[in-house]
Amino acid sequence: MAGGWARDGAVSEQIEASISDELARLKSRPAPVGESLTHCADCEEPIPEPRRKAIPGVKLCIECQQDRDTVYSARGGINRRGSKDSQLK
Ligand SMILES: [Zn+2]
Repeated sequence: MAGGWARDGAVSEQIEASISDELARLKSRPAPVGESLTHCADCEEPIPEPRRKAIPGVKLCIECQQDRDTVYSARGGINRRGSKDSQLK
């Protein structure tokens, strides 16, 4: 049960809902939730306030998070890196 990621028709919704998608993923695994960081743990770019409010305990900026998301997607056998990146910038 890895979720309904591979269903046809779910793809565009998935891309449009990138933040809620990410939020759902964070909730679906037992990640410890701490304080949101003001700056990315990877690249030290400032993390936008709305993102910090939307994702309690956020540690990464959007770009770094997307790098990690790409890894998760690839593990599901689907690599949409190109379209995903262009959608979210
Ligand atoms: Zn970053």
